Amino acid sequence: MLIKTERRNGFLKRTIVRCLLFLPAILIVMGWFVFEYTFSFDVPAPDPVLQTGRLELAQGEILILQLTHVPDGIKPKAQTELGLAVFLSNGDGEWIAAAPVGNTRQPGKYPVKIDVGNFSWEISVAVQSFPFKTQNLIINTSNPVISEANSAKAYQQYREKIPPLFDTFDETVYWKGTFIEPTAGRISTEFGMTRYTNSDWSNPRYHWGVDIAAGKGTPVKATNDGRVVLAEYLLNTGNTVVIEHGGGLKSYYYHMDSLQASNGQIVQKGSVIGTVGSTGYSTGAHLHFEMRIGNQAINPTMLFNDSASLYYFELLFKFFDTSEIFATLNILEKRFIISV
Ligand SMILES: [Zn+2]
Repeated sequence: MLIKTERRNGFLKRTIVRCLLFLPAILIVMGWFVFEYTFSFDVPAPDPVLQTGRLELAQGEILILQLTHVPDGIKPKAQTELGLAVFLSNGDGEWIAAAPVGNTRQPGKYPVKIDVGNFSWEISVAVQSFPFKTQNLIINTSNPVISEANSAKAYQQYREKIPPLFDTFDETVYWKGTFIEPTAGRISTEFGMTRYTNSDWSNPRYHWGVDIAAGKGTPVKATNDGRVVLAEYLLNTGNTVVIEHGGGLKSYYYHMDSLQASNGQIVQKGSVIGTVGSTGYSTGAHLHFEMRIGNQAINPTMLFNDSASLYYFELLFKFFDTSEIFATLNILEKRFIISV
């Protein structure tokens, strides 16, 4: 009898323990059926964001603009009196534009208007003067080669060939990283100098690039990746190459001894495109190297330094790894469906 009671008590205990063990699972299953519901919500796509590099810029510098979260199918636009500013896509809704502050741009405030679909911004750029030097060139104008290079015919040919390139641009970002010095030599004439010839003080000219003095035959290299848009002999600029780097940012190489590039060719940074010489309006072996955005000349030597304003956003990315932030934003942009 005693044994029977113990057995019955043992059975009861085990049953209670089993029920207690299963109770949470039973409650969850009941809860699931009773309280099951589904809700969903849309996280709206973030609005486009404009970021700029420095807004106080000296003559010869570059204004850099960056847009993120630009919706697919919309092409951003920038308008400014400073000059050509073309937004180029970097993918994932990111666009970059570079606008020139030319060497002859008058100091003052310049508005820049940016439009992305229904969004628009207006920012103001403060242009500061740069203390460019003055130079008086003594040139033997009776030299027949010089006089032809300086003739009305030579300038007419220049006007037909070079300025039409100013308005052209490729919507591809060819350039990568810092621009390189196109040839090994000494800078004999700086960027932006006001130049007079044979003390004719009534006729100032501007030096739109830098002159790099080097021995005849020294290789001339493409300053960055790009597409050759002109490679030919011109009376004024001699053997000439022009390379488009994207968005109308171009490099110009004048007075070369030989040409080693052809029109339409895609070149890489460091590709040899010619050799240093003294062809056209030149009195000694040197490379005239010019960089422009549209028709505005910018300081090429600035671009040899990786702290140039053109690389502003690359520098930011160096200091802050933004890839994780962008990954989070991409997730937020997706539609969430959460079931409980
Ligand atoms: Zn020059």
